[in-house]
Amino acid sequence: MNQGKGAATPAGSAEPVRLHNTMSRRLEPLRPLRAGEVGIYTCGPTVYDAPHIGNLRTFLFEDVLRRSLHLLGYRVTQVMNLTDVEDKIIDGAHRAGQSIAEFTAPHVDEFFADLAALGIEPAEHYPRATEHIDGMIELIEALIEQGYAYTAEGGVFFRIDRFERYGRLSGIDLSQVVRGERVADDEYGKDDVRDFVLWKSAKPGEPSWPSPWGDGRPGWHIECSAMSRHFLGETFDIHCGGVDNIFPHHENEIAQSECAHQAPFVRHWLHSEHLMVDGEKMSKSKGNIYRLADLPQRGASLRALRYLFLSVHYRRKINFTDASLDAAGSALRRLDELRFRLEHVAGGGPDSTADGDAGGEEARQSDDRADATGFQEVLDALRRDFRAALADDLNLSAGLAALFRFVKETNRRLEAGLETRQAAAALAALAEVDRVLGVLDPEAWLEPTQSAAAWLGDAEIEALVERRDAARAERDWTEADRLRDELSAAGVVLEDTPGGTLWRRS
Ligand code: AMP
Ligand code: ZN
Repeated sequence: MNQGKGAATPAGSAEPVRLHNTMSRRLEPLRPLRAGEVGIYTCGPTVYDAPHIGNLRTFLFEDVLRRSLHLLGYRVTQVMNLTDVEDKIIDGAHRAGQSIAEFTAPHVDEFFADLAALGIEPAEHYPRATEHIDGMIELIEALIEQGYAYTAEGGVFFRIDRFERYGRLSGIDLSQVVRGERVADDEYGKDDVRDFVLWKSAKPGEPSWPSPWGDGRPGWHIECSAMSRHFLGETFDIHCGGVDNIFPHHENEIAQSECAHQAPFVRHWLHSEHLMVDGEKMSKSKGNIYRLADLPQRGASLRALRYLFLSVHYRRKINFTDASLDAAGSALRRLDELRFRLEHVAGGGPDSTADGDAGGEEARQSDDRADATGFQEVLDALRRDFRAALADDLNLSAGLAALFRFVKETNRRLEAGLETRQAAAALAALAEVDRVLGVLDPEAWLEPTQSAAAWLGDAEIEALVERRDAARAERDWTEADRLRDELSAAGVVLEDTPGGTLWRRS
């Protein structure tokens, strides 16, 4: 299992972090139960279909959380459940004439493939609901024994008027949900419309598990209470999800866990906002979803999608548009160009001994000496400002602003001539930032769209570069940009130097 890059950092050296807590609606310092170690539970996918990129936004936010905590010196244990028993799964399996395991297997594979394709680090545990039925039954028994749950036609239900704190997380006004309102077909036996199901009695022909209340299957909410307890204990540090999970799912998890254990459930609740399309939440039921496989048709790369998701704070909505993907692509090109130039200098290329006569060279050497300390400040500023941004509620917009200040300043110094070791230090600083961003290394992002179809031979690249140089000489910037984009789409990075245009494959 992945131990995370932060595992090597001693627990005592973890840096303070403030995170927004949905429960208090305020920024609060993260105070892990065990110093320097953080347990995180993240609600995972329902595996009846491939994830859409809205789901992936939430999983990417959770990736940023774990990577940030690692960078700031924490050990992280992340648990993400897979919901592999649920109405849509049962319907789908039934229609396909398959078992639950057969029906869900390809969707589980799609889910893991998408996480990997977006550079999302693996969690420590991916439990499946069907592997934890015993734990769920135990919890339900504890709830019945203490009078928080009852059996009725249709299964076992949680009696929410027994739990005074119900509704605190979402702030929902329960008086608005009235008795006698329409309820799900298979839940009509419950005493109060607001009660929710813990165990559903099996209908004929449905997959089921034996229980003290007859054959059936667990409700969705009890899964997460049982699996979080199994891996993280009755009380743990952070619970995440998308904002649509707050009510009723997380509210119900709190009710089940706190009533069963008579102990606090979660110390810090984090929720990420939605990915939107034309002002509406991206969701299967609205028919406005995109999958990773749709991106190449829009001329966009997965790397640009990751960048787009990183660039908007997790508590703000993202409107998914071609323009926002293009802007992400342009930002990445600037970063690639800097990296390319730095690699060139660090490798001892002509930039490290710039043009000019002997007098100019002498003057520059003395400038470099003055700059050596100055450049250390540029490196320190990136490190300091980027970490401070993360520690302030994962403020990656501020982190990226720090990165682009660094890009601007380093480019300026490259013009003046940067020493080999300074270029190497700049690359190391970028690599550190990339432990959280995970987008800066173009070689880690060789995508199928940039392979066969778009592949160009060296001679073709040279010819395009020459045409672009000619366009630039004629100040035809539109044509020059078009050619740069064509090369970029084929995975070719350009650097304009005083001695001409350099290129390399990314
Ligand atoms: P599901 O598979 O429907 O249970 O969803 C898995 C995760 O994706 C949950 O944490 C949801 O909150 C999240 N999610 C669903 N739709 C969106 C969206 N449009 N934007 C961001 N997150 C979403
Ligand atoms: Zn959950």
